[in-house]
Amino acid sequence: MSQHEGNGNARDNEQMSHVDEDTIALLALGESVLARDDDHVRSCVSCQAKVDQLGAIVHSARSVTDEDKPVAPPSELWDRIAMEIDSDEQVSKPAAPRGARMGWFALAAAVGLLAGSVGTAVVMNQSEPAPAIAQATLEPLPGKDSSGVAQVLQTADGPTLVIDVPDLPEPDGYYEVWMLTPEADSMMSIGVLGTGDVQEFSLPGGMDMETFPVVDISLEQFDGDVTHSTDSVVRGVLEA
Ligand SMILES: [Zn+2]
Repeated sequence: MSQHEGNGNARDNEQMSHVDEDTIALLALGESVLARDDDHVRSCVSCQAKVDQLGAIVHSARSVTDEDKPVAPPSELWDRIAMEIDSDEQVSKPAAPRGARMGWFALAAAVGLLAGSVGTAVVMNQSEPAPAIAQATLEPLPGKDSSGVAQVLQTADGPTLVIDVPDLPEPDGYYEVWMLTPEADSMMSIGVLGTGDVQEFSLPGGMDMETFPVVDISLEQFDGDVTHSTDSVVRGVLEA
């Protein structure tokens, strides 16, 4: 007796839960996919049919030599498959050409044209974003007008400081990233900030962010002096 049992909701849920075209292509190629997608396909007649049908094409595509490879998708075959898939689906999508479009994409993947990019997309999907364990809003110091954010992410390789200050002016000298005690009586140089938008710095193992919670970016001169120039541009305090 839930309010979610209306026809409209059930239909929307089913429509949204089908796996995407990349996943179909990967399964047809025999690649591994996310466990929840794999589970879905095993229990979904419609998705399984797409995988089986594409798999048959993969098989024949792999058995031809380079000279035999088609330069264009076999459109009659795909039209037929698209029709069969559509007739399987209780919910037909409003965009009619979808089946044919998937056909070309999936076939390209099957013969390896897109294998690289598909693989990359799946790797990115599978690696969860590293959790942020602390963040700081970087505010301009008096007389400066840049601002940004800093985050400490817990990556597989240890804590990583991510700096994003998109509007830093071209430096007369260079920018350096520091982590300071609240009293600024002790500090660690984290590294030189280049010109990219977002930059990451691996923090030393055992780095105590509670002791050095202040993230500071200074403008430094090429003067051979490794200490802080005291010319800070932005600064913020990391909070968990
Ligand atoms: Zn499905």
